Amino acid sequence: MKKRSIRSLQKSPWQLALRDGVHLAQVLNGERFEFAEDRERAASFISQLHSLTKNPKGLNEQREEDFAGVNEVLRNYPWVREVIAIGADGPVFGDFPAPGSSTSGALQMREIINLAGQRLLGRLRQCHRCARWFFAIRNTNNDSCGEKCRQAKYRSTPEYKALARKYRNKRYHDFESLEAAKRLRRRKHAKK
Ligand SMILES: [Zn+2]
Repeated sequence: MKKRSIRSLQKSPWQLALRDGVHLAQVLNGERFEFAEDRERAASFISQLHSLTKNPKGLNEQREEDFAGVNEVLRNYPWVREVIAIGADGPVFGDFPAPGSSTSGALQMREIINLAGQRLLGRLRQCHRCARWFFAIRNTNNDSCGEKCRQAKYRSTPEYKALARKYRNKRYHDFESLEAAKRLRRRKHAKK
């Protein structure tokens, strides 16, 4: 049991990011037991970080004004770092909410900061169709939470619509020629 918990602490940065991303998506979808206000705070902090990256004025410019809002949020979540285990490669550190600070919603905030620090916050997305949050495994423009929504998106493309029209027309023509053949046969029978 103890061995297993230490192994879980030695996950790769990507594995940790994946775990954070999947957990955050669940929290934002209301599939976890977090309070609604923690969920809302996490969602608003994510959009705050996104608006920061969407409107870059250039890296060298002073952006203290833009940073102030984010830093104000961050000040509410002071962390202390502690050694929590000794792995095969050395000590393993963990971050914990500083004594006396609010622990409510602190885990989500740490996950958001971890993802942003690894430039992976963009992978945490909302489905274009059903608005469910999901963590994109691959760095593609995928904006669907799953196969069902992906197919629905495909069905709405002009390419698919044209193809469906062509198929329907062909079926109609086939049906028409079948009916014509039947009529012809009936007429022949009638003549006999
Ligand atoms: Zn969806």
